[in-house]
Order: sequence, then C-alpha cells, then structure tokens
Amino acid sequence: MMAVDTLNSNTHSLTDEDFLDYAMSHGFGDLHFKVDPATGMKAIIAIHNTKLGPALGGCRFIEYDNTASAIKDAMRLARGMSFKAASVNLPLGGGKSVIIKPKQAFDRNAYFHAFGKFVEELNGRYITALDSGTLLDDMEIIAEHTNYVASKRNQGDPSPYTARGVLRGIEAAVSFKLNKDSLSGLHIAIQGLGHVGFALASHLHELGAKLTVADVNSDMVNKAVNEFGATAVSTDSIHKVACDVFAPCALGAILNDLSIPQLQTNIIAGAANNQLAHTYHGESLFDKGILYAPDYVINAGGLIFAGHKYLMQSDTTILQEVDNINQLLLNIFIRSAKENKPTNDIADLIAKEKLA
Ligand code: NAD
Repeated sequence: MMAVDTLNSNTHSLTDEDFLDYAMSHGFGDLHFKVDPATGMKAIIAIHNTKLGPALGGCRFIEYDNTASAIKDAMRLARGMSFKAASVNLPLGGGKSVIIKPKQAFDRNAYFHAFGKFVEELNGRYITALDSGTLLDDMEIIAEHTNYVASKRNQGDPSPYTARGVLRGIEAAVSFKLNKDSLSGLHIAIQGLGHVGFALASHLHELGAKLTVADVNSDMVNKAVNEFGATAVSTDSIHKVACDVFAPCALGAILNDLSIPQLQTNIIAGAANNQLAHTYHGESLFDKGILYAPDYVINAGGLIFAGHKYLMQSDTTILQEVDNINQLLLNIFIRSAKENKPTNDIADLIAKEKLA
C-alpha cells in the first residue's frame, strides 16, 4: 500500500498499480478517462466521494509532462475537494477533471465540446467548474452539452465570498488565540493582493486593522498603501513581519522548512490553497504555538458560493454558510487543543468522519 502522502510528493513517479492502490486506500469512487480521436482531446475525471452529493470540482486545462502527472493531479485535487465540501457541510462530493493541454496547435472549442459530452455521459455524478487554464467561454461551450456546470457567466465572481470567509476565519482565530472580539488595532500581514487578498485588505481596514502588504504587482501594493494606509514590504520578507496574523493569499507551499523558523506571527489565516508544503509542517506550526487555520476550511467561501448557487439556494443562505466558517474553525481549534493535535490533522479527521 502506498504511503498516505505519496500524491503530495513531487518526486514520486506513480505506476498504474499505485493509482489503483491510492484510489483504494483513499476511498475513491471512480476514475474516468476519455480520448476523443476526432479532436485529439484527452481528459480525466476523478470522482473521489459522492456520499454527501454529486462531485463538484473544477476542470484544469494545463500542460503536463506525461499522463501520469495529469492523473495524479486530478486525483489529488478531487480528494481535496471532498474534504473541502465536507468540512463546510455542503451537500456535494469531491471531484476534479483535467484536460491535458497539448504542446502543439489544437482546436480549443472542439476540445470543450468533446469535454462537455464527457461530463454529460456521467449523468450528474460530476459537476464541472472553472479552474487553472479554463475560461468562462469554455464553460459556456461545455454547457451546450450538459447542465452539470457550476461556473456560468451570469453566476458572478466567487472571490468576494472567499474573502468574507477568510475574514470570518481570522475573527475566529483572533478570538481563540488572542481572546479578542475585535480586529481593531491588530497588525495583519497580507501576502498577495489579488482578487481575494485585496478584498480581504479592504474588510480588515474597515474594521480598524493595521496592514502590512506585499505583492509582485506594484500597482496593487500602491493601491493598498493609498486606500488603506498599508505599509509595503518586499515579497521575500512579508512572512517575516512581526504581526498578529499572517494571511497568505498568493502562493501554495508558503509554509515550509525555510519560512516556518522565520515566522513572527501568532496566527496564520489566509486564502491560498495548499499553504503547507508538507503535512508535517502543520505539526511544526503547532509545536511553535502558531495557530494555523486549515486552508481548505478558511478559503471555502468561494466553493460555498458556487455550490449553493448551483443548488439554487438563496443569497441569504449563501452568506449564512460563508459566515459559519467562523464556527467551523472554532470547532477545529477547540478540538486541536483538547486532543493536542495540529489543526490541519483535526480538519482532516473531521472531514474523514463526515465522508466515512
Ligand atoms: P489572484 O491571482 O487574483 O491573486 C494572487 C495575487 O498574488 C496576485 O496579485 C499576484 O500578483 C500575487 N503574487 C504572486 N506571487 C506573489 C509573491 N511571490 N508574493 C506576493 N504576492 C504574489 O488569486 P486569488 O483569486 O486572489 O487567489 C489567491 C489565493 O487564494 C490562490 O492561492 C488561490 O488558489 C486561493 N483561492 C482563491 C479562491 C477564490 O475564490 N479566488 C478560492 C479559494 C482559494
């Protein structure tokens, strides 16, 4: 049997047998493959778990070194979607799809027509959405063939909901760790001022927090300095800022062997996906007494928005569910303290309990 973290390793090369072992040991429902000779499209749909509902997850359209890497990506991400949906009580399962982007010329529209038919063939077990490399235009083509599409042009941007969820997560962490019910006067360092990071900065400024920010995009940095009175620092020093909360809102794997010893924060609570380079970094943070808000819980606001919109829930329900991220994280923090286990492990345990 493979080690639990094999799919998170960049060095391991999976054999066919490994895939099936991984699928078996991680509760995978099914893996679907499609090759379309007419267009040359090659796609994979990985459905991890449908216990709580049909599997929702984005469609990636990026280049891969080989098919094994594409399958690995789809499986790893599908499992992450199951955990994320379960952790915020969405009546949805976890899935992910990958269309392998060819290195040579191809007919993009034809690819997405073929992919739409592929999604329809699964009869609603998988609902697709935007992800790296896919565009709203692609989703509209897919929607010509199937209703199982969660990202539509008229649906709106999930980022403000992600930012609101992260804000609720920061409030939960501050109340638990610092015993404060207000963010006024707290110092918060934000890495990345994109769709989520900038909206988060705006909320935090309104609530009286003092901000330090960094982004490779100097326009966004200048905007935050001018609009929120933020202090700007370089992108390689933002994680070293002495602050109450560090909010990673840019890159994955920001919490690693190099960065963790340099942190000077009480709390890590931000939007970025896959913040821990490895699972054991959650333990390093726990040992240092830094409260880590597990990324897939705190950043689930966008999924809550997309999932509930797809399920045609009201805007009021969506906002209530996003705000409930506060309580869900408090539950994780309390159980982590009680069981003396890192918060990321507790988040995984809770998700697995719901999926079992
Ligand atoms: P975005 O692309 O709009 O913003 C990312 C920002 O990070 C950009 O402004 C970019 O210039 C900046 N950046 C890149 N490299 C940097 C570096 N080295 N240092 C500092 N800044 C850097 O993305 P987003 O939609 O705001 O998402 C931010 C993070 O949150 C991503 O990890 C994303 O996967 C995750 N996330 C986003 C959503 C959502 O609804 N948008 C939902 C869940 C998770």
